[in-house]
Amino acid sequence: MKFVDLGMQFAAYEAEIRTEMDKVLRSESFINGSAIAELEASLSNFCGAPFAITCSSGSDAILLGLMAKDVRPGDEIIVPAFTFIATASMVSLYRARPVFVDVNPQTFNLDPDEIAQSITSRTVGIIPVSLYGQCADMEAINSIAAEYGLWVMEDAAQSFGASTNGSMSCNLSELATTSFFPAKPLGCFGDGGAVFTNNKELAEKLKLLRNHGQKQRYSHKLIGINGRMDTLQAAILKVKLSYFIKELDMRQAAAERYNTLLADYVELPVLQEGNTSTWAQYTIRVSDRDNVQCRLDEAGIPSAVHYPLPLGQQAAFANLPKGMPTPVSEGLAKSVLSLPMHAFISKQNQIKVARELKRILND
Ligand SMILES: *Cc1c(COP(=O)(O)O)cnc(C)c1O
Repeated sequence: MKFVDLGMQFAAYEAEIRTEMDKVLRSESFINGSAIAELEASLSNFCGAPFAITCSSGSDAILLGLMAKDVRPGDEIIVPAFTFIATASMVSLYRARPVFVDVNPQTFNLDPDEIAQSITSRTVGIIPVSLYGQCADMEAINSIAAEYGLWVMEDAAQSFGASTNGSMSCNLSELATTSFFPAKPLGCFGDGGAVFTNNKELAEKLKLLRNHGQKQRYSHKLIGINGRMDTLQAAILKVKLSYFIKELDMRQAAAERYNTLLADYVELPVLQEGNTSTWAQYTIRVSDRDNVQCRLDEAGIPSAVHYPLPLGQQAAFANLPKGMPTPVSEGLAKSVLSLPMHAFISKQNQIKVARELKRILND
């Protein structure tokens, strides 16, 4: 059993993917080939954000967003304490300062009630993460941001395809970013990402920034990076995007099956009212997590911990001033466990996961 079975997905679309890849190989347009603009139009159409700018990874998408917002050294940016490091490390890389704020104990997303006390005169923006595939409470976060004059950029690396009260992730704030890392719900065959915005000026700027600040070759308006997506990855994503709605349904069905199988044994994932999830992860909470994970492994069942340390405890951030306490994040880091989850997971495998988990927990 695999944690994410990319082989099954490839087998399902292989002929189409190969055809699209071949077109790119014959075109010799490996950089900014026609698949890039086609994919961007489809991504924008899918989530409703007026502008989609593809780029080299989800991490670079965050960096490009910070660059587009003219973040200055020393600026403070609110991020959740419980997320993948890139949400915060891109802030530090750009010489600004991530400020870790605790998350909601039910949804594991940035807790709007905890934000205000961490805002200072240096705070410029908020990067909420839509963790495990469900949107952060963007409405509450947007309203705090408006009150304090801050920008909001949703880190939707796990949630492209999710919705909240009928609006799609990546179209819930001025800026949003996503990742097409292979294991994400919509993944390519390498690294890739995108930035989304509803602001035309920002969109133009992002297009410059991802390509060395140039529009015409060797005429550089801004200091930028090489942050482009490969045409090959765009061609692959075009095919996968055409099946993505179907895959989201398959993920939803798999999540519901886990819910039924596991209801009496573990703390199930909780969705905020009005939210749908991409189920980037199906993550339960158990006590004695490390032991449970070890015994699942012995039974041939892969699992994963997203994430074993709150960001404030990472060595890479040891030089940051101590912020507010983040007890919820600390508790989650010790108790969360993600189970095998992908669109093609079989009922038999889910039953096996549930059976082994029950056996271990009843021991
Ligand atoms: C995967 C991920 C990223 C980084 O995306 P890459 O494409 O791997 O650079 C950023 N934030 C979150 C929350 C992620 O899950």
